[in-house]
Amino acid sequence: MKLKLPIGAFCQSCASALRRTEDLGTNKQGKRVHNYCRCCYRDGRFVEPNLTTEDMILRVTTELRLAGMIEMVVVNEVTALISNLDRWRSSRSEKSTQDLDIRIEARDHR
Ligand SMILES: [Zn+2]
Repeated sequence: MKLKLPIGAFCQSCASALRRTEDLGTNKQGKRVHNYCRCCYRDGRFVEPNLTTEDMILRVTTELRLAGMIEMVVVNEVTALISNLDRWRSSRSEKSTQDLDIRIEARDHR
């Protein structure tokens, strides 16, 4: 069984689908950002800034299992999925949250 990314926009932190405007996170000005959900990113910052890639992988596998979406936990696939999202990619290159903040706001102006 292959895990697939949700069709359309999805959160670059937890991979959940961003279907409705109210699912979107907000920047410092309270404007919606299009790359993070409101559970992960609110008021221009991550809700849990100290969360690690491993924490997120564990969380997503647990949620999928609880939702009955996977019978066996496919840790490798969730690991690949999560570690390719923007939030965790940039944490590997040791960018600060400040850098990330600027990048998100720059995207908003496109
Ligand atoms: Zn999220």
